[in-house]
Amino acid sequence: MATIELTDPAHEVRNQAPPLHPVNFFDLDLALREALAREGGDWGLERAHEVGSAAGSEAALEHGRRVERNLPILHTHDRYGKRIDEVELDPSWHWLLRGAVERQIHSLPWREQRPGAHVVRAALFMLWGNVNAGVMCPVSMTHAAVPALRAAAPELAAEWEPRLTSSDYESGALAGMAMTERQGGSDVRANLTRAEPLGDGRYELNGHKWFCSYPPCAMFLVLAQAPAGLSCFLVPRGPGLEFQRLKDKLGTRSLPSAEVEFHGVHGRLVGEEGRGVPAIIRMVNHTRLDCLLGAATTLRRGTLEAVHHARHRSAFGAPLVEQPAMRNVLADLAIESEAATVAAMRVARGYDDAEDGPFRRLATAVMKYWVCKSAPAHAAEALECLGGNGFVEDSGLPLLYRDAPLNSIWEGSGNVSALDVLRAIVKEPAGLTAYLAECELAAGGDRRLDSHLERVRARLAGAFDQDAQFQARHMVEELAVALQASLLVRHSPSPVADAYCAARLGGEGGRAYGTLPAGVDAGAILDRALPA
Ligand SMILES: Cc1cc2nc3c(=O)[nH]c(=O)nc-3n(C[C@H](O)[C@H](O)[C@H](O)COP(=O)(O)OP(=O)(O)OC[C@H]3O[C@@H](n4cnc5c(N)ncnc54)[C@H](O)[C@@H]3O)c2cc1C
Repeated sequence: MATIELTDPAHEVRNQAPPLHPVNFFDLDLALREALAREGGDWGLERAHEVGSAAGSEAALEHGRRVERNLPILHTHDRYGKRIDEVELDPSWHWLLRGAVERQIHSLPWREQRPGAHVVRAALFMLWGNVNAGVMCPVSMTHAAVPALRAAAPELAAEWEPRLTSSDYESGALAGMAMTERQGGSDVRANLTRAEPLGDGRYELNGHKWFCSYPPCAMFLVLAQAPAGLSCFLVPRGPGLEFQRLKDKLGTRSLPSAEVEFHGVHGRLVGEEGRGVPAIIRMVNHTRLDCLLGAATTLRRGTLEAVHHARHRSAFGAPLVEQPAMRNVLADLAIESEAATVAAMRVARGYDDAEDGPFRRLATAVMKYWVCKSAPAHAAEALECLGGNGFVEDSGLPLLYRDAPLNSIWEGSGNVSALDVLRAIVKEPAGLTAYLAECELAAGGDRRLDSHLERVRARLAGAFDQDAQFQARHMVEELAVALQASLLVRHSPSPVADAYCAARLGGEGGRAYGTLPAGVDAGAILDRALPA
């Protein structure tokens, strides 16, 4: 029988990229670092450095892996048949969620009301999002519940805010939302769950919700039909709130998302009866920003992993990163990622400045649509840069890929987001004016951007004469790339801005990633994407 000779070179492990971890996600991300300082969050640089380091530690990597292996389990009843509705979660889940709460990623702007707080929180959200996408869902919902309560139910805000904003993971509280029902999610007017007034300020809720993420939340904002119409209620977790089963999902599998039945559960009105959508939309505005931040994280992580791998893996006698076809793919991924980061951070600044309201309203919808829509294709291409290794769980890329479509679905699926942009343009024209003014701050900086903006204006002038909904996605795309190009022209090194304008506006690029035109300075783009 042949024995394996251990010194035989045929058995040596060669030409494999070393692990990327431990890594500081912030220190390596020049686009994010610059955007944090530029958009008013320079006081958060040290915090971002700490979060970037913690998120890129070996410990965080291992906890992130464990929560994907040890999935949540719902226990509806105890051994004696009594309802308990408890979700069993792996200790790693708690490690990851506690890490976010202790760093105030769920509450920073509400606790520290200083200029730039939303920008700082946005950077921290993106950085901690590297540990696990699922864990960011309750972080986002809790953060977003506070402004909704403050605006529509100050007395409930006073009661709940101390716990919702606490950085003590054990004694604090997390908030969820329950809107979607079997018969309709986007169209919440189709909700059937009923709310009957009890006469003492409370309501009794009966009905169901088809998706309700993170059942362990202490309370949920719920839409239900009251006598005067669809209304928003604060429902604490407790008897009558019964979780039926957990969804078997494509991605964010670490996050329990449940189907729920309401059996006479008590809730308190948030805002006025019949004004449930305006009440909960204040929450959704913030979770939509987080979808954008989450998608930008996906693009950045994919770029980082792809460039790292290509620097350490050789084929046909040279490192992949030196092979021209691969340089094109990597540079293309990198410019898309930088465009997403600068846009996400600019939109986050809109939440810090009351005067930026009209821009914020439109820009959140436009960029939520576009960056979330970009994420799955970007993740697929990043994965392919690792070849077969990218298809294997150990690399982390399959997880990135499975999670990537989600941000585009929840908080307004693609079409719903695009239609929301149309609605905002018609109902709040000041938003479009502010948006185009922001894009035009780069006027004269790149001729392709100038021509693109002219085309966008012409299109907008004619769009509402024709079938606007049929063309909604295309119009939102045009608006999105205009803002991204404008930000890159003004703030990023010229190789990045030039490549973006050429490929995305100038008609010189192709359709798949890796089709940047000749003359692009891929070397400069890659040095920036992952500094040596
Ligand atoms: C992992 C996960 C977690 C979730 N967690 C929660 C949660 O915690 N709470 C909660 O309330 N919901 C939650 N949801 C539900 C989510 O918000 C909805 O799935 C989403 O809003 C879409 O609603 P729907 O599934 O009913 O699809 P539908 O509304 O039926 O939409 C189906 C498709 O039709 C499109 N569409 C809808 N209307 C139009 C139109 N007028 N014109 C053109 N196209 C249209 C949509 O864009 C979509 O592509 C979660 C979903 C997922 C996947």
